[in-house]
Amino acid sequence: MLRVAVVGSGPSGVYTAQSLVQQHDVPDVRVDVLDRLPCPYGLVRYGVAPDHEKIKSLQGNLRTVLEEDRVRFLGNVEVGGPELGPERLLELYHAVVYCVGAARDRRLDVPGEDLPGVSAATDFVSWYSAHPDAADGGFALDGVRSAVVIGAGNVAVDVTRMLARGEDELRPTDMPEPALGALAGSGVRDVRMVARRGPAQGKFTTKELRELGTLPGVAISVDPAELALDPAFADPAALPAVNRRNVEVLRAWAGAGPDPALPRRITLRFFLRPVELLAGPDGRVGAVRFERTLAEPDGRVRGTGAYEDIEAQLVLRAVGYKGVPLPGLPFDAASGTVPHAAGRVLRDGAPAPGEYVAGWIKRGPTGVIGTNRPCAKETAGSLLADAALLAARPVAPDPLAALRAAGLRPVEWGGWLSIESAERSLGRSLGRGSVKIPDWQGLLAAAEQPA
Ligand code: NAP
Repeated sequence: MLRVAVVGSGPSGVYTAQSLVQQHDVPDVRVDVLDRLPCPYGLVRYGVAPDHEKIKSLQGNLRTVLEEDRVRFLGNVEVGGPELGPERLLELYHAVVYCVGAARDRRLDVPGEDLPGVSAATDFVSWYSAHPDAADGGFALDGVRSAVVIGAGNVAVDVTRMLARGEDELRPTDMPEPALGALAGSGVRDVRMVARRGPAQGKFTTKELRELGTLPGVAISVDPAELALDPAFADPAALPAVNRRNVEVLRAWAGAGPDPALPRRITLRFFLRPVELLAGPDGRVGAVRFERTLAEPDGRVRGTGAYEDIEAQLVLRAVGYKGVPLPGLPFDAASGTVPHAAGRVLRDGAPAPGEYVAGWIKRGPTGVIGTNRPCAKETAGSLLADAALLAARPVAPDPLAALRAAGLRPVEWGGWLSIESAERSLGRSLGRGSVKIPDWQGLLAAAEQPA
């Protein structure tokens, strides 16, 4: 038997488990999928926006893997803490695959970034996704008329859309009551998503961008003169397909102009880089100062020394994620990833026997969920190729007993099913569908109940 621990139950972890058990070259591979949270699915549960039911439904595919006979989900198990580090894991398992993602948000490093009213988009996402580590109290949106979202990736698009959505669209989702109340009752009328480069360099995918134009009651505003600052705008034919399609969507919006009769507006701005966040009279953020940029031939931009202040009582920075080091594992701070060769962790440049990585901690925070499939497959392939050597090393006979003996209280699959059942009951009591439990205590208590 080859006993493997996969650390992280997001898409990269589950696809790795799948590649390890759904193959015929190495018999009897057993996989424990460990997660710090009592709930599985990582960013599919806690990152995909609640109104994206179709992407959320991927949970069904991930569930099928976690319900395989040779796969076991063990939630509420933190790796990297004092009880369970990489060294100890290698005493319990023949191999360990780290699929821990990229847990931190990037910062802007400009003055005023810590003013009240300025947050990482990832914190906003954690709040409406009911992540149990989301800050207590969440986001109060009273008094917010205008919001600025900095960045032009899919996270920026997600939070822009969530800010512009109305109650009828939010109520059917599984978002917790306080977030639903705050978003549905908010007075946000203007959301400006601001990119430091041009329309041809947006990182968003076309489907996500186009969706902004379909929101009920929301006008889309794009200034054709600002789009035209991009040399590729006049003739996007030579751009890669996704960028060309993005430019075409923006061009159509610019041509149509915003509908003034609609109550809310999303404005897409380009060639503006944030240089300072300015306080309003109440000490909270009141505006963002941007510098106008110009395109360079290599796709980068340079500042022009011309500035524009955009009003905002809420500012969300959506400028990407960053990997964080896991104590005991090597880490390349520049890329925010673990050094590896085809998924084999490198210690001092040489493959470390039994240690592997997959997902964002391996390749950085890029790509869509499906990108994790080939990534996981490559890592699983390396591990299976090493299987004979790995299986020769003796390991503890019962890792679950060893985890319990170390003081950990793993939530097994039955516990997760109980959480799901409690979330359905909570939803029923509120006259809604399933509603997520937002706190550690509630999740762990639900896990103890019969499903
Ligand atoms: P991202 O795609 O890397 O986008 C980050 C954005 O922030 C870029 O527009 C970048 O501009 C900008 N930026 C970086 N530093 C900046 C600064 N100092 N000032 C101003 N702008 C700055 O990151 P993300 O949106 O966090 O998404 C992460 C990954 O998750 C992506 O692969 C994304 O596709 C995926 N995701 C997918 C979905 C979906 O499929 N629905 C939803 C959410 C996330 P530059 O290009 O100029 O650097």
